[in-house]
Order: sequence, then C-alpha cells, then structure tokens
Amino acid sequence: MRNENINWIVFDADDTLLDFKAAQKEAFTRMLLSLGFEDRKDYLETYNRLNRGLWRALERGEIQKQELIEKRFRLFCDHYDLQGFDGKMKLSYEEELSKGGDIIAGAREVLEELSMNYPLALASNGILSIQRGRLDASGIRSYFDEIIISEETGFEKPQKGFFDIMMSRIGQDDPKKILFIGDSLPSDMLGAVNYGLLSCWYNPGENVSTLKVDYIVTSLEQIPALVKNLVI
Ligand SMILES: [Mg+2]
Repeated sequence: MRNENINWIVFDADDTLLDFKAAQKEAFTRMLLSLGFEDRKDYLETYNRLNRGLWRALERGEIQKQELIEKRFRLFCDHYDLQGFDGKMKLSYEEELSKGGDIIAGAREVLEELSMNYPLALASNGILSIQRGRLDASGIRSYFDEIIISEETGFEKPQKGFFDIMMSRIGQDDPKKILFIGDSLPSDMLGAVNYGLLSCWYNPGENVSTLKVDYIVTSLEQIPALVKNLVI
C-alpha cells in the first residue's frame, strides 16, 4: 500500500546503501600493494583524516571537487615524505575504488520492497566516474528512477543548489512529500532539514545529534514500516 504523504524516496549512497568503508579499504590495500608499499594500518587512517578534512571544506563551498581529488594523495605523500607517488596512488586508488560495489546488509531487500510503491532516487556527493562504476558493480542501480551525483550538479549536499537540481530532476516541487534518507549529519541531514524535506537519519551507530531531524532509523529494515506508517 502506498502512503499518499510520500511522492518520492531519496537515498544517500555511501554508508547508507553502498558500503563505502569496505570498498575503500579494499581499494586502498590494492593500491598500496600494487605500488610496492606495505599495507600499514596508519596509512588508511591518515588518508581518511586528510580526505575527510577536504570533503568538509568542499561541503562548506571552500574548495572545488577537482582540488579535493588532486590534493588528497598529495597531502598523504607529503605526510609520509613519499615524493613522486601521489599521481600513481590517485590513479590506482580511483580505478580500484570504482569496482567496489559492496552494499550495506539489507539494502537490496529494502529497495526491492519500496520500489514496488514509490519512485526511488539516489543523491550522492561523489566523483562521477567512481560512483557510476560502484553502482554498476553493486547490482542495485536498477532500483533507481533518478541518480544525482554532486559532480554533475556543480553543488554538494548540503548546499541548496544540489537540492534544487535534485527536485527538478525528480519533477517535484513540494519538499514535504519527499523522504530523504542518509547517514551524514553535515551533508544529508543538514541539507534535507534546511530544504524542508522529510528527513530520515540512518544512524546505525546510535550516535547523538543536536540537529532536529524528522525520523531516525538504526537499521535499513526499519524503513518500509516507517514509510507505511508515516503521518504528516
Ligand atoms: Mg553517506
């Protein structure tokens, strides 16, 4: 049964449906080994810290996507004094990551069920070529009627411009009829709340938030019941 209060359901991709952590770990290890490096634990931790800082700067509109892509391995190589490896690392990592179609447990079943009653969209802050490759490898691409990757919009979640383009792509003008589900507070939830969408925080780690979201789920399996019973 379709809930008339909802016209579309929009999902974030990474760590909501696609298992980015698993895909990244594999890709990073393969990159290191292919270039003759040891698979040291602190390498990935350092890269993650540097990369995360760049993504936050991107979401605040302080840098452009291209700068992030160019800079993350340069900063990594500077940190470890590995001059001349940043270009090779970037290429190898991006190639390996684009094959990473790991999905979060339960994602396929939930999409299967929801897609019987609602059009579904995917809204991802990501690098177009990588996200396309991962979606192809994931086997869940066909559930989506629209896929919006930030790189093609010129904006990032939580920027309003991203959501303007998302709404026009799904042909909707009432944000209160759109359920937006994502794991990230600073990009997904802040953006959804500011835009007036129905916000649903996927919070498997049961973290605490000061941001007032409309709904919280701790597992994907809770979403079909939430959607069915949602009252405005
Ligand atoms: Mg995410």
